[in-house]
Amino acid sequence: MTKPLIGVVPLWDEDKNSLWMLPGYMEGISRAGGLPLMLPLDAEEETLRQLSGLCGAFLFTGGQDVSPGLYSEEASALCGPVCAPRDRMERLLFSIAVLEQDKPVLGICRGIQLFNVLLGGTLYQDLAAQFKPGAGLHRQKPPYDKPAHGLQINPGTPLHTLLGQDRLEVNSSHHQGIASLAPDLEVMARAEDGLVEAVRMRDRAFVWALQWHPEMALAWESSEKIFAAFVKACPA
Ligand code: MN
Repeated sequence: MTKPLIGVVPLWDEDKNSLWMLPGYMEGISRAGGLPLMLPLDAEEETLRQLSGLCGAFLFTGGQDVSPGLYSEEASALCGPVCAPRDRMERLLFSIAVLEQDKPVLGICRGIQLFNVLLGGTLYQDLAAQFKPGAGLHRQKPPYDKPAHGLQINPGTPLHTLLGQDRLEVNSSHHQGIASLAPDLEVMARAEDGLVEAVRMRDRAFVWALQWHPEMALAWESSEKIFAAFVKACPA
């Protein structure tokens, strides 16, 4: 049987000048019956169109902070390192795969922040400085397969339907987050301090994004269900 092919945005290591990948992203897709394919970062529009024809879905991975210029802000002193090649490639890929072709996509960590920005929202450049002084609960220490904080899942959202529960404990490794929500996004879950942790895009087949890291906790039932729903949304 042909497995659904899912393009995965590569991570970028500035020090090594190298593409890399966390195995959990690939394994989460594989375990759910998909075939993950790591994408090039230097692809131009024509190449991304070819890849979008080849892949049934795309996973937007975690990584560096999104360039504040993309939401018309100057970088504050507390903004972390950015990655211009990822900003460029992901903006093009999102435009082709999501906005033009309505492909299923899952965004994780940087992914939720990126989707929000590309759809017109803004970010807190540093949660502790701009959101809540106690935002340390969002930056846990390893191991990352231990929960760091709780979520309230909104009833009536597809995430609530999928998991069948109002609350979920998740891991957390981010210092930025959604400030103003893009108009086309719907909140599916919030952290106990009110921060947006899961969204979906309205009127799309499957455009979901999470602030936590299911790929670092593949043994959790919630992680399994989320990867399964993503792969199921992808045509074989
Ligand atoms: Mn968090």
